[in-house]
Amino acid sequence: MTIKVLDDSLINKIAAGEVIERPANIIKELVENSLDANADAIKIEIENSGLKKIRVVDNGSGMSREDLLLSYKRHTTSKISNASDLQSIESLGFRGEALASMAEVSYIKIKTKEKDSDVGNMVEVEGGILLANEKIGCPDGTSVEIQDLFYNVPARKKFLKSPEVELAHIIDIVTRYALIRKDISFILSHNDKEILNSQKTDNQLNNIIFVYGTDIAKNLIEVDYKAADIKIQGFISKPNLTRANKNEQSLFVNNRYVRSQPINDAIYSAYKTFLFTNRHPIYILNLTIKPSTVDVNVHPNKLDIRLRNERDVCESFFVAVKKALGSHILIPTATPETETKRKATNIYELKKDVQSNLFQEEKIENDEDEQEDIEQEKVEQEFDYTINQITNKVEDRPIQPELVKTKEEKINKFKDFRVLGQVNKTFIVTENEEGLAIIDQHAAEERVNYEKFMEELKEKAIKKQTLLEPKLLELNPIQYQTAANNLEFLEKLGFTYEDFGGTTIRVTAIPEIFGKLKTTLLIDIINELAKVNKDIIDQEIEDRIIRMSCRASIKAGDELSFSQMKELIEELGRAENPYSCPHGRPTIIQLTQADLEKKFKRTGW
Ligand code: ADP
Ligand code: MG
Repeated sequence: MTIKVLDDSLINKIAAGEVIERPANIIKELVENSLDANADAIKIEIENSGLKKIRVVDNGSGMSREDLLLSYKRHTTSKISNASDLQSIESLGFRGEALASMAEVSYIKIKTKEKDSDVGNMVEVEGGILLANEKIGCPDGTSVEIQDLFYNVPARKKFLKSPEVELAHIIDIVTRYALIRKDISFILSHNDKEILNSQKTDNQLNNIIFVYGTDIAKNLIEVDYKAADIKIQGFISKPNLTRANKNEQSLFVNNRYVRSQPINDAIYSAYKTFLFTNRHPIYILNLTIKPSTVDVNVHPNKLDIRLRNERDVCESFFVAVKKALGSHILIPTATPETETKRKATNIYELKKDVQSNLFQEEKIENDEDEQEDIEQEKVEQEFDYTINQITNKVEDRPIQPELVKTKEEKINKFKDFRVLGQVNKTFIVTENEEGLAIIDQHAAEERVNYEKFMEELKEKAIKKQTLLEPKLLELNPIQYQTAANNLEFLEKLGFTYEDFGGTTIRVTAIPEIFGKLKTTLLIDIINELAKVNKDIIDQEIEDRIIRMSCRASIKAGDELSFSQMKELIEELGRAENPYSCPHGRPTIIQLTQADLEKKFKRTGW
C-alpha cells in the first residue's frame, strides 16, 4: 500500500461535498453571504430545482475587483483575518469555503459592483478554473449564478432526491429567513413562477402571517425576554395550536438559522404540561447573544452551533417561553376579513392597517373573554359547514358480492357486552360473562375508523363528504408545494382540493370517516408528507399517515348515549383486531369475576 498525496482539485471536491450536499445548501450559503453584505433585497431564481440554474441577486455592498478574484478561492474570506477575530465575528459564518466549493462542482458566474465604483466586475469559473474575468456594467450589489451543479461529481448527483424534494428543501430555507428578517425583502421563483414574495415590514408578525397565514398567526404568543446579555424574541404557539411534526419550528441565533437540541429541549420543558405526546409547538425564536459566546463554524454547513454558556441560555429559553405561556395579554389576533382574502402578493397592504390596533383590541377584551375565546377557537378549528354525504367510488362499479358476504360473516366478538355507563366521557363500562370490561372509547373509535378506512382504501371506494361550503386552507410555501406534489396520494385518501391563488387551497371534499375532521388534519398530513423526504410514498408512510389521521379525527371527551355506546362496541367487536388501537394502545381491559373477588379479598369465602 502506498500513501498518496491527493491533488488540490480532489481535495476541493471532497471538501465541497461537506458544504454542498444539495441545491438548498447553495441557496443558504448565497443568501447568508448577501445578508452579510448588508443587502435588504435578495432575489433567488432557480430552474429545475436548482440543478440547472441558481441565481441569487442582492443589493448589498458588492466586491472590489481584487476581492472578487479571491472570493471563489478556498479559505478566502473578508470576515476574519487572524485568530483573534474568531472571537468577535458577527457575520453569518466565515469559513471562506462556500464559493470555492460551488466553483469546484459547477459552473459559476459572479457579477458584482461596489456602490462608489463606476464599473462592475465579472468572473466565470468552471470546475475551479477561471474562464473569464471582465469589467462590466451592472447594478450595485452582487449576483451569483450557478449552472450545472455537480456536473463533475456524478456520485453526488446520484444522492439527490427527486426534484420535488430538492425544491422543498430550497423553499424551506428561504422561508425560514423570510420569517425572521422583516428588514429584508425576499423573492423566490422556480422556473419563472414566483413561489415566495416577502416584502420588508416593520412587524415580524407580518412576516409570519405572510408565510404561515392568519390562522396560525392569531394563535401565537409573543416572546420578548431580556436578561443581562441574552435576548430572546419571537413567537410561540398557544398550547391549542400544535403540529404532528417539527417543521414549523425555527430557531435563530443572532438572526442566523441554526439547530440546537439543548435549546429545543428547554422550550419543550416549558410547554411540558400543555403538550400531548407526539404533538409539537410552533416557534420562531431569535436569540441575540454576544457573538464571542457562540461558535457557528462547528460544521461546514454551519447549521449546528456550540454555545459557551449553554446552561444559562437554555434556562433563559425555559423562562422566556414559560412566561409567555403564562401571560396571554399579548396574544395577537386577526380580524375576520383578513382571513380568507389573503393573497400572496398583497398581504402586506392588507395587514399594515389592521396590525396596529390588533394588540390594543386584545388587551381590552382579552382578560374576561379569555375562556370564551378558547372555546370559540376550538369550535373554529373544526370545519364549519353542513355536510352532504355521498358515496364517491373511485371506480364506478357495483359492490362485489364477496365483499358483502365477508362483511356479514364478521362476527361480533363482543355480543354479550352489556353497557353499564360512561366514565369521565372517556371510558365505557360494560358487563359480560367474564366480569367487568372497560373500553377506552377513543382507542375503540380509532380502531373502528382505521379498519373501515383501510377496507375502503383496499376497495378503492373511499367515501367522501362533499363540503357544501368549501374550506379555504392557507398553506405555507412548503406545505403548498408538498400538497401539489402529492395531489394524487391525497386524492386517494379522499381529499379533493384545488388552487385558490397564492398558496391557498380550496378543499371541496374530505374522507367521510374523518367526520369530525379538524382543519389541522389535512395540514398535519401535508406536514407529515413534507417531513418524509422520500420520493415515493411507500406502504409504511401510507400506514403511518392513515393511523395518524384516525387518531386526529377523534374528538376528545364526547358524551355518548347508551345507543351510541352500544353501536361503538358492536363495531369494535366486528373489527379484525378489536383489542388495540392502530397505535398499539389497548382498547379494552377485562376485569374477571376472579380479579374482582381478589381485589375485594373475597377469595376463599
Ligand atoms: P465566507 O462567507 O465564509 O467568507 P464565502 O466563500 O461564502 O466565504 O465568500 C467569500 C467572500 O466573498 C466573503 O468573505 C465575502 O467577502 C465575499 N462575498 C461573497 N458573497 C458576497 C456578496 N453577495 N456580496 C459581497 N461580498 C460577497
Ligand atoms: Mg459565506
